[in-house]
Amino acid sequence: IVSREVHPADSVVQVRGQAFGGKAIQIIAGPAAVETAEQMAQCAELVKAGGCRLLRGGAFKPRTSPYAFPGIGVAGLEQLRQESGRHGLPMVSELLDVRMLETFLELDVDMIEIGARNMQNVGLLKEVGRINKPVILKRGPSATLTEWLMAAEHIAAGGNHNIIFCERGVRSFEPSYRNMLDLSSIPVLKRETHLPVIVDPSHAGGKAWMVPSLAKAAIAAGADGLMLDIHPDPANAWCDGEQALNPQDFRQLLGELAALALAL
Ligand code: PEP
Repeated sequence: IVSREVHPADSVVQVRGQAFGGKAIQIIAGPAAVETAEQMAQCAELVKAGGCRLLRGGAFKPRTSPYAFPGIGVAGLEQLRQESGRHGLPMVSELLDVRMLETFLELDVDMIEIGARNMQNVGLLKEVGRINKPVILKRGPSATLTEWLMAAEHIAAGGNHNIIFCERGVRSFEPSYRNMLDLSSIPVLKRETHLPVIVDPSHAGGKAWMVPSLAKAAIAAGADGLMLDIHPDPANAWCDGEQALNPQDFRQLLGELAALALAL
């Protein structure tokens, strides 16, 4: 279903009126984790003021250590919903556990993220395949492109064809960045599938200073959009502060991306 052989034209995935895979580059931005009402409100204002169209926020965080901050759970989704409604920005959040799907549907999460760690969680893929919400499917840290495409096929086989691929880097031998952003996956995926492809340069680089270069490279390589981590005060973020853009750097990157989009 996801193959271009079956569907030669590009598919456009609509997320509450925002199109992925069309002409516009879509930018999803927000904090890695929802912390407080104030932090979420500040992030939403930055996202809206920057002209981005979708708001992200992690409520359930898949941390490497069981003792790290795990997210504030349903309260985070509620704060995200409030800011999403206030600014007219569709909301995106990660679903970690199939038992929370009902809550995501009740709170009307506009786009469900399946994170890298769950890319091959077939039970979860099948469940999001049965609903009609758009799904962002991140690439597993060591998944081949065929495995990634097949993971999407698991979702599509259930009837949900509203899938957006998100490259976020793969595990490499190099310790100076978090993951190695595999830019080559963009042209390969664009050739193999009709579905949109976006890039998360924040989780790839793992360092805020690296994000602008990776973001621009992703757009130049043909990505349909980006997912960016931002924070009003990265040094005091509860999760992934090192990779979050501060307000000033976020605004600067958006300006550079607009210039790049015009030049392409
Ligand atoms: C995230 O987007 O918050 C996240 C944890 O990303 P990934 O699944 O790519 O690690």
